[in-house]
Amino acid sequence: MNPSSTPPGAAARPLGVLAALPQELGDLIATMQAESGVVTRTLGRRDYHLGAVHGVPCVVTLARVGKVAAAATVSALIHVFDVEAVVFTGVAGGVGPDVHVGDVVVGETLLQHDMNAEPLFPRHEIPLLARSRFDADRALADALAAACERFVAEEGVALAARFSAALPRFETALPAVHRGLVISGDQFVASAVAVGALRAALPDALAVEMEGAALAQVCYEYEVPCAVVRTISDTADEHASTSFSSFLTDIASTYSTGILRRFLVSYRPAQR
Ligand code: SAH
Repeated sequence: MNPSSTPPGAAARPLGVLAALPQELGDLIATMQAESGVVTRTLGRRDYHLGAVHGVPCVVTLARVGKVAAAATVSALIHVFDVEAVVFTGVAGGVGPDVHVGDVVVGETLLQHDMNAEPLFPRHEIPLLARSRFDADRALADALAAACERFVAEEGVALAARFSAALPRFETALPAVHRGLVISGDQFVASAVAVGALRAALPDALAVEMEGAALAQVCYEYEVPCAVVRTISDTADEHASTSFSSFLTDIASTYSTGILRRFLVSYRPAQR
C-alpha cells in the first residue's frame, strides 16, 4: 500500500476480490488467514472474508454463478463493505480466434450478450442506461495485465511442464495474455453453433463467461472502479464441459494464485 494516499488516522478502504467458484480464488483466503487472520461476515447466503493480503486490506467472497449473483454480491461489497475497487477472477470460454485454453484474458470492456430488448432498444443495450459496453478501470486492467505477463514470464515454463498433458498446446507455446472485450450471459456456452453465433454477433469478443458484465454494470452505476481477469478453461464448444471441469480442478487455482499474488504485491489504493 502507498501510505501517502491514506490520510493519517483514516482506515484504508478495502479492495473487493471475488470469483464465482472456490477454485477461482486460488490460495487467497489461506494467505489472508496466515497474514492477518480472517474475519468472516455472512450476508445473503455469502461469506465475506475480511483481512489483509500482501499488505492490501481486502474483502474476499464468492459470488457464485450468473449475472444476478454477481450483481447482488458486488452491491454488497460496495454498500456494506465500502470497497474502493473490485477485481473479479475466474475462468471463461475462449471466443476470439487466437484465444486458447490456458491463455488469460483481461477485460477492457464488458457486455451482456444475452441482453436483447429489441425492437425497443438496440441489441445488447441495457434499457434506460443507454449503453451496452462497460469499461474496466484502465489502471486496474493495466495492473492486472502486468501481473498476468509476469506470471507467464516467471511460471510459464513450469506451467507448461506441469499441465502439458491437459493442454497439449503447452508443448510448443506458452500461455498468451489478451486484452479486450469479455462477454457475459446466463448460459454456459458449450456448442460450436452457440459460440459461432456469439462470434458473428460480436466479432471482437475474446471470452465468454457468466458474471463480468453484470459486475461492470453495477460498478459503472456506482462509479466504483472494477476489473476482470479470466483464464481460458474451454473454447465454449462441444468439449466445453469436460475441458471446464478438468481445468477447474487442476489448473484454475494455480493461475489465480499466481496472478493475484503478483497483482496484490504491487497494488496501490485508488488506482484511478
Ligand atoms: N457450478 C458449476 C457450473 C459452473 S458454470 C460447476 O462447477 O460445474 C461455469 C463458470 O465458469 C461460470 O462462472 C462462468 O463465468 C465460467 N465459464 C467458463 N467457461 C464458460 C463458458 N464456456 N460459457 C459460459 N461461462 C463459462
